[in-house]
Amino acid sequence: MKSSPIIRAPHRNTDNLGVYVHFPYCIHKCSYCDFYSVGMDRAMDGGKTVTTRALADYMQALQSEFAERKKLFRQRRINTIFFGGGTASLLPAENVFRILEMLRTEFEMDSRCEITLEGNPENFSPDYIASLKQTGVNRIHVGIQSLRPAILKQLDRYYDEERYAAILETLKGSTIVNRGVDLMYGVPGQTEEDFYQDLDRLLDTGITHVSLYSLTVEHGTPYDVMVRKGVSPPPDEEMQEQIFSFLPQRMRDRGFVHYEVSNYGKPGQLSRHNLRYWLYEPTLALGPGAHGFTGTSRYANVRNTPGWQSAPLAAALESHEPALELPLCFLRILLPLEREELQRIVETEVPGKWDAVSRTLESWAMRGLARFDSVFEWKLEGLMRLNDRVVELQEVLVSK
Ligand code: SF4
Repeated sequence: MKSSPIIRAPHRNTDNLGVYVHFPYCIHKCSYCDFYSVGMDRAMDGGKTVTTRALADYMQALQSEFAERKKLFRQRRINTIFFGGGTASLLPAENVFRILEMLRTEFEMDSRCEITLEGNPENFSPDYIASLKQTGVNRIHVGIQSLRPAILKQLDRYYDEERYAAILETLKGSTIVNRGVDLMYGVPGQTEEDFYQDLDRLLDTGITHVSLYSLTVEHGTPYDVMVRKGVSPPPDEEMQEQIFSFLPQRMRDRGFVHYEVSNYGKPGQLSRHNLRYWLYEPTLALGPGAHGFTGTSRYANVRNTPGWQSAPLAAALESHEPALELPLCFLRILLPLEREELQRIVETEVPGKWDAVSRTLESWAMRGLARFDSVFEWKLEGLMRLNDRVVELQEVLVSK
């Protein structure tokens, strides 16, 4: 049995800035998906590439939003950029380059700036990866979810047989070395063996990062409606619990660090952008449905592409609520968090609450849920009912 090297959580740094760019289009809207996205099969008559017109409208609105939103941030140096969606891999590399140039005109780029583009297997050809690399993208993430057509069908995902078949070779030969995938478990009809076989085949390509999610029923999605009507089976929760408890050791045996509830990375290749959300660091977010955080205020852009394009700055600033938000963020981090650093964050964001917070963390340690001495670190037992722990700490932080 292998153990991971001890890697501590990075210190929170609010002097650097992260940028999130939301590209809304997908070839098809999956029925379980709660992200803001637009299926091109409906919006663009079944096209597999975004039309020139739609791209031009998107770029224009993005520039207008950036011209104003940038003024909300005092930070001058960007250390992470993330192109997500929707399917950001439907963005031609030329547009990725123009967006990066737009950011460079106003901000300094950290010399080690992590620039990620996330997308779907259909778009990640060796040529596309090579042209992304030329723009400065240094990390890709591929939403594979499953390598099995029957499971992808169950998930109502668009599936291109040829591109899926090629993705393993593409990942193996990727010229962008920092490359990861998303996989899903607990899909009706999927066995544990199916999931572990897919995982092993992907790990054998040399990927450096894996996000492993259990299928959930998101309120208001078509999948939610179908489950409630009894038309679609719900996720297999028993299997999900089983996999969740065995995954951490299995991934450690393959040399990965479990650094967030659903995320694993090779040492040195954890996603710094993901960590920024959990460390409660500021993010300049652009695009329809994107959520930004200045450090003291939040904004949530409208989940409607034409609406956002006609008024990209319509989302009002709202003050943040650290007493509710902090537990949602840092309790997801599985790396050891230094006690002094945690104290500094709590005292900065919710002054006067550190004693009560530390008493709660101590009580969890006494119950065998976590370790709390010079560091705070979860044990697997604590993660099994994480939502209850989040609510418990929120109550401590909001109490008078
Ligand atoms: S491809 Fe991804 S973002 Fe698009 S609809 Fe499916 S799950 Fe949602």
